[in-house]
Amino acid sequence: MGAGCGMSARAEIPLTLTPSAERGRVRGGALKTLADLEAAHLIPAGADLAAVAEKYAIGITPAVQTLIDPADPADPMARQFVPSAQELVTTPEERVDPIGDLAHSPLEGIVHRYPDRVLLKAVHVCPVYCRFCFRREMVGPQGLGTLTAAELDAAIAYIAAHAEIWEVILTGGDPLVLSPRRLDALMRRLAAIEHVKIVRFHTRVPVVEPERIDREMVAALTASGKTTYLAVHANHPREFTPAAKAAFGHLVAGGVVLLSQSVLLRGVNDDVETLAALMRGFVENRIKPYYLHHPDLAPGTSHFRLDIEEGQRLVAALRGRISGLCQPTYVLDIPGGYGKADIGAASVIGGEGCFTVRDWQGGEHAYPPPAES
Ligand SMILES: *Cc1c(COP(=O)(O)O)cnc(C)c1O
Ligand code: SF4
Repeated sequence: MGAGCGMSARAEIPLTLTPSAERGRVRGGALKTLADLEAAHLIPAGADLAAVAEKYAIGITPAVQTLIDPADPADPMARQFVPSAQELVTTPEERVDPIGDLAHSPLEGIVHRYPDRVLLKAVHVCPVYCRFCFRREMVGPQGLGTLTAAELDAAIAYIAAHAEIWEVILTGGDPLVLSPRRLDALMRRLAAIEHVKIVRFHTRVPVVEPERIDREMVAALTASGKTTYLAVHANHPREFTPAAKAAFGHLVAGGVVLLSQSVLLRGVNDDVETLAALMRGFVENRIKPYYLHHPDLAPGTSHFRLDIEEGQRLVAALRGRISGLCQPTYVLDIPGGYGKADIGAASVIGGEGCFTVRDWQGGEHAYPPPAES
């Protein structure tokens, strides 16, 4: 894995950061091999998925396993997490680094694409491995591993040396696989940098391993004088389990501001009812819908992609159907490293002081309107 992406593979897992996912099946009993999946009846006996398992990591936590209905061949949870032979199909437009992270990586673990914020990728492992993952060539136990202590020092020194960095976004991998003690140490180091005001985490842990969100974890994610945002990744309303809701509650009570992040996925959430229930579920849990991502061109994910016009129709339908609180921004990460673009259908057309504005039912209205007589 990582071949051709210009980064060196490293097997070493340093003592400073030991993600629980690396500690294997001792903790929580996640399913990590084809044999595990077969024993759990999530794949048929003798399914020929060795080539998929060789390329891409597998991870299904107990919390996720309970959400999968093995009897349903179109199960939206299975589709997100159970490997499939379709992952061996690649299309010409797919790429190892679909959103162009490498073009903006000044040093290991940092992606600095926009002036005021950086990504800090401390770990490259996750508690689960999503079959559509945009970083699937980089994440996983056989992937790039975790930053060494020296690399982490260098990344923090980079942030400290760039006064324009207002926000640090911890992503990966999933930063919440780190122990609260290690996250706390990392958070204190970031909090010591005067110009960093916001620390944002992107994670699936509150949904897929909610038991990790305890008092100690919440304390580790916050620091006095700084504001912590956490973007919860969830794609289907079934993910709002009682345990996940409790985890969201602990985070909110601890002063963390919650945002959502979802990927629009064929066969998972590509209909207006599911999307509406997903967005309402976020809002009911005090999570403000933030981004709905158009699926990235990661290798072996064509079965998840739909075209932008279809996505635009779905997002426009949401506008008329559910509260403004529930509206996400539909975004595309432009291949090549050009950043995110809002790809919702334009509702304003024209220029030079004369516009046509489209309402949620498709009606068109001149703005400014004709003079009232
Ligand atoms: C997505 C992304 C961000 C965050 O973008 P926001 O629009 O602020 O959520 C920052 N840096 C990189 C490199 C990204 O890919
Ligand atoms: S949790 Fe995020 S980084 Fe990890 S596999 Fe899923 S999409 Fe990829």
